[in-house]
Amino acid sequence: MIKPFEKKVWLATPTMHGDELRYMTEAYETNWMSTVGKNINEVERLTCEYVGCKYAVGLSAGTAALHLAMKLAGVKPGDKVLCSDMTFDATVNPVVYEGGVPVFVDIETDTWNMSPEALEKAFELYPESKVVVIANLYGTPSRLEEIKAICQKHNAVLVEDAAESLGATYKGKQTGTFGDYGVISFNGNKIITGSSGGMLMTDSLDAANKVRKWSTQSRENAPWYQHEELGYNYRMSNVIAGVVRGQFGYLDEHIARKKAIYMRYKEGFADLPVSMNPYIEGDMEPNFWLSCILIDKEAMCRQVRSENEALYIKEDGKTCPTEILETLAKYNAEGRPIWKPMHMQPIYRMNPFVTADGNGRCRTNAYIDCGDVTDVGADIFNRGLCLPSDIKMTEEEQDKVIEIVKSCF
Ligand SMILES: *Cc1c(COP(=O)(O)O)cnc(C)c1O
Repeated sequence: MIKPFEKKVWLATPTMHGDELRYMTEAYETNWMSTVGKNINEVERLTCEYVGCKYAVGLSAGTAALHLAMKLAGVKPGDKVLCSDMTFDATVNPVVYEGGVPVFVDIETDTWNMSPEALEKAFELYPESKVVVIANLYGTPSRLEEIKAICQKHNAVLVEDAAESLGATYKGKQTGTFGDYGVISFNGNKIITGSSGGMLMTDSLDAANKVRKWSTQSRENAPWYQHEELGYNYRMSNVIAGVVRGQFGYLDEHIARKKAIYMRYKEGFADLPVSMNPYIEGDMEPNFWLSCILIDKEAMCRQVRSENEALYIKEDGKTCPTEILETLAKYNAEGRPIWKPMHMQPIYRMNPFVTADGNGRCRTNAYIDCGDVTDVGADIFNRGLCLPSDIKMTEEEQDKVIEIVKSCF
């Protein structure tokens, strides 16, 4: 009999080290309790240094950075924007803030990120598209060179949502630097955090200056509050920047811990009919933000999901994400379903969706059997889940999580 965890084992929570408090206190004691100050300057400098971009602008959230990236990319009402389909909705909502129409592009099985083939197909179907938004899911880089080359061929601006992938590299180069504009997030559960906060990265001085201006209500250079264009209150707080500044020195340590967790799961599940969230070894070094598993098709028990409920039929030797998530919860551990693809979301159901085979969405609502349609996102959502990946989880706790997952088969 496995006993429940006395202390909850979490998916991903902030891990503080002490330096954060020192920099926050410095902001307090010097009275830079504002959206101006040394912590912000330092965090922007540290980001450029670590990631290797020319300019970084500290903002209130990753979502704010994505919004301003849409403005930089020139998204206008009615414009179609080609977006990664399987992601957190913060990747695509900013398209709609600017009146754009997201066209969802299916992911690929090798990285769970946008499929270059599906992107080519999307440009065939929507040649007028001028902007592409990709996400590096769970800390795994997309096929960045291929995607970038396709965008260049079609003269499209590439926005790279690296909110989950800070510190991950593709062919030795940091994620967030492949797009014209890169975005990171310092939200509470990310690899390093400020409690909230975000960053826009670019090599264009003009773009960086625009973001600085727009994020501070677009004040013109005048003795009074003079405004020529629409502004936003999106700048990062100097107190929050203090937290991020303190965390930065621990980024590599966090990545090493996350990688150890991923590898331990991989080893622990070697005999089970499951695989881990994939990446292309040699080309990619993820930051291993979340460890996820995908249950083999043959090992899936029957599971049906409505818009807000799930049911499954228990079968010996088989399981499904719903059963594993319920079992983890029973033992006081937190898992999470894979991001539900955007083309399956009620808000975006009427938007176009492009698969690599060009057939588009699965016709059945429940996505149980899609027939000839290869809807990779729906399939991974069906069979995958995220496991506790908290840096503070002990090896003993992780071993128990592994036992709990095994007990579901
Ligand atoms: C967290 C996240 C965001 C949003 O970042 P916030 O700082 O929470 O606004 C955007 N995209 C992805 C993929 C994310 O995981």
